[in-house]
Amino acid sequence: MKFDPASNLEKNPNYGQFKGVNPSISDSATYTFKTAKAMMDTFEGKSEGQFLYSRHTSPSNYYLAQALAAMEGTVEANVTASGMGAISTTLLQICGTGDHIVSSRTIYGGSYAFMKNYLPKLNIHTSFVDITNLEKMEAAIQPNTKLIYCETVSNPLLEVANIPKLSEIAKKHGVLLVVDNTFSPLIMSPYQMGADIVIHSLTKFINGMNDTVGGVVCADSQFINASKSVIDGAAMLIGSTMDSLRSASILKNTHTLAIRMKKHSENAMYVSQRLEQDGVRIVYPGLDSHKDHKLFTAMYNAEFGYGGMITIDAVTLEKADAFMELMQKRNVGDLAVSLGFYRTLFNAPGSGTSSEVPEDEQKEMGLSPGLVRFSMGLDHNIDKTYKIIKECMIETGILEPMHA
Ligand code: PLP
Repeated sequence: MKFDPASNLEKNPNYGQFKGVNPSISDSATYTFKTAKAMMDTFEGKSEGQFLYSRHTSPSNYYLAQALAAMEGTVEANVTASGMGAISTTLLQICGTGDHIVSSRTIYGGSYAFMKNYLPKLNIHTSFVDITNLEKMEAAIQPNTKLIYCETVSNPLLEVANIPKLSEIAKKHGVLLVVDNTFSPLIMSPYQMGADIVIHSLTKFINGMNDTVGGVVCADSQFINASKSVIDGAAMLIGSTMDSLRSASILKNTHTLAIRMKKHSENAMYVSQRLEQDGVRIVYPGLDSHKDHKLFTAMYNAEFGYGGMITIDAVTLEKADAFMELMQKRNVGDLAVSLGFYRTLFNAPGSGTSSEVPEDEQKEMGLSPGLVRFSMGLDHNIDKTYKIIKECMIETGILEPMHA
């Protein structure tokens, strides 16, 4: 049977203490035990269903984790206070001093900075490689490599990782494939295609409200339990735990994720197709002109479309800034970092969310200073939005009026 992430996400509702339609929120940091022996057993991991302390797991975090594990088709998950909390603890759980990572070079700036600048302090080094060049990815694997890291759809260039092929390479060399699926929840199911660990920043599409940061790691029980071990688990000991009030609110928003993703994709496709017809050089995986369009189409869960992310190259930072300021003034959306919000967000990643990547490396990977990244919102009248975007492009000299 075809994997159905959206149905999986909603299939196990938990009810509240007084038969409430939403689960009760666990407003407790610690939990009582009937006997001292029961407490000791829990410390030793022998007692099922008994909560110990909320840095380890709370009932509210457990409900959210279970829903997201079902969405990705993993047995377990662990929710964290931010996407970076999920990424950093996963890498630290897998790697120790002397270990090596092979990572895609086009990834979120914070993930890049963590591997490039922070992990070397612990003698963990990373080779950054073009993810679309599988030979180079494989050739970068060393005897001390522990994992391959990539984003399914990369931030900000929207390059697509060939997850089945990367999984083959990872298995051949006995390393783990860790995939950040933040840009494509429901659209892509990396675990089903052979990834070992799937991470999301919940801050983005999954929560969708821009009212909190959050993260999740979805994997098998062995990995999740090890990362929550009271003895040496990175998640447990670094303490990147999500607060229960937040996990309860994020869980409610997961119930609208399927309809939101469809609408984000529909709006992004509409704007991309129209602007491409107008002569704009637009990057969107749903367009035939996107270099990874076929690969995306071979991997995606078609009903959710090609996602909400678009980029447009305004060539210079000055033009990009003028364009974004005008769009904000005309209420197209907000000049802000982040993505997956109900309103359209735009920023210039070269000087913003990817500013951690040095300029020469940005150039090498094709990140133009004038690149504007859009996270298309849930606009009801997308044709109106498209027309305003086009006007702003003409007024700021990005699009020639003859195309109007
Ligand atoms: N992964 C991707 C692809 C992102 O875009 C981001 C943030 O922008 C993160 C991870 C980090 O998530 P958070 O900001 O929730 O820590």
